Amino acid sequence: MTRWTAIHTPLSVLAVMATLLGAALCSPLHHPCNSEDSDVPCDTFSASSNRANDGHSSPPFPAVNRESNGDIQQPGHEAVSYTGYKLLRANVEASKLPLVDSLDTAEGVDLWSWRRKGRSRMFEVDLLTPPAAEPKVKQVFSANNLPYQEVIKDLQDAINKQKDEFFFSWNRPAHPMTWEKYHSFDEMEQYLYFLQAEYPHLITLEEIGHSSENRSLKVAKVSTGPNRTAVWIDGGMHAREWIAPATAMYILYRLVENAWEFPELVNNFDWYILPMVNPDGYEFSRSKDRLWRKTRSINPDLPLCVGVDANRNFGYKWATEGSSNNPCSSLYHGLKPFSEPETKAMADFLLTHKDQLKVYVTFHAYSQMWMTPWSSSHTPAANNRDLLEVGGMAIEAIRSYNGTKYTIGTVPDLLYLASGSSMDFAYGTVGIPYSYALELRDRGNYGFILPKEQIHPTAQETFLGIRAMAKAVFHKLYPNKKFA
Ligand SMILES: [Zn+2]
Repeated sequence: MTRWTAIHTPLSVLAVMATLLGAALCSPLHHPCNSEDSDVPCDTFSASSNRANDGHSSPPFPAVNRESNGDIQQPGHEAVSYTGYKLLRANVEASKLPLVDSLDTAEGVDLWSWRRKGRSRMFEVDLLTPPAAEPKVKQVFSANNLPYQEVIKDLQDAINKQKDEFFFSWNRPAHPMTWEKYHSFDEMEQYLYFLQAEYPHLITLEEIGHSSENRSLKVAKVSTGPNRTAVWIDGGMHAREWIAPATAMYILYRLVENAWEFPELVNNFDWYILPMVNPDGYEFSRSKDRLWRKTRSINPDLPLCVGVDANRNFGYKWATEGSSNNPCSSLYHGLKPFSEPETKAMADFLLTHKDQLKVYVTFHAYSQMWMTPWSSSHTPAANNRDLLEVGGMAIEAIRSYNGTKYTIGTVPDLLYLASGSSMDFAYGTVGIPYSYALELRDRGNYGFILPKEQIHPTAQETFLGIRAMAKAVFHKLYPNKKFA
């Protein structure tokens, strides 16, 4: 069973499932907790019984992707192979979701996503299935008349294809950055230095701190004059969501190298962009485990369970909903708010610039969603109408570019409750009125393993969404001024 289920499933459903499954709450492969290590609580979630019954009409199993999955992530020093792992997608009616969820107790099976199909009672469920569990999973699908297909036939093969291959490097400028492959953190840094050297009138770099493994956290400021209203963008908070930092870098490219194209963007706003919040996790996902999500901080009391979910570590309603107090969980919220140097540096910067910042955007993946506050509560934000209006213009700009469809709404409406998120901190503590969390491409054909051929179109459409958002915010803030 996924940790997510333990957090979010109504207790009545859990009770039925526990009966069905012999109360098996752990998936052996993912759980060092199942070993002799009795110091590790198996399924102790600080928020597990906090689901408020507030009359909100959420579906029994709201759409969720692996972001929400609390599966245990072990530190691992050997590279993890996903050879033979398949991504299976089944069409499942709501009443049979617990049955499918129970498959997660099979060794290594991992629920990546479940999405409601339109307004129906049917769901599309994505299950990552290791070779050993494949016969059992398929047998359960067949026995229960659940049609399914193999979306990814070999995950390692898909991962390998995503990696760097032969690439023409001739006639390149003095940096390696492209949007045709996923770059290392070092290569992204080289591009930041290049921009600073070539466009000193437009961009300045500020080091706001260091990661646990001492990588530099750099905010790029794009500005053409003093005292501008400011937009913040970050990417790479979750390590395996590679499209997020790539897209943040692309936004920077369009704002700096192509500033002439839409001068109103830099003439009316300052832009603060932190393209890589979690460089340690990103590099670990490149070298060791492609599906790593957390930071790479060492917990002195439990050195085998590395890292914290950075997007549960911010200090707004920290550890109240949809996070884990189990250091081995991928949803671990940390020992205290801002225990991670990455989240602390980011929060300090946001607070320092609180008077200037009017827009906060954080890039994640996947599911194609433009999400509004709150993530820790079903209560609509005070300016919900404005938030939806601005976000609606952004997703319409994305759709009209090449047909990519986004959904818009609060985090629990679209996914699940989650406390300690950066968006709630930006909106609730810093007071940034237009705060959004985006889930970029795709809708599950590749999930986290988005092919490199999709980097450029994803980045382009997202830039146009950000541009439409900036224009809409400007008109909200300054109704009598022209956006030019
Ligand atoms: Zn994420």
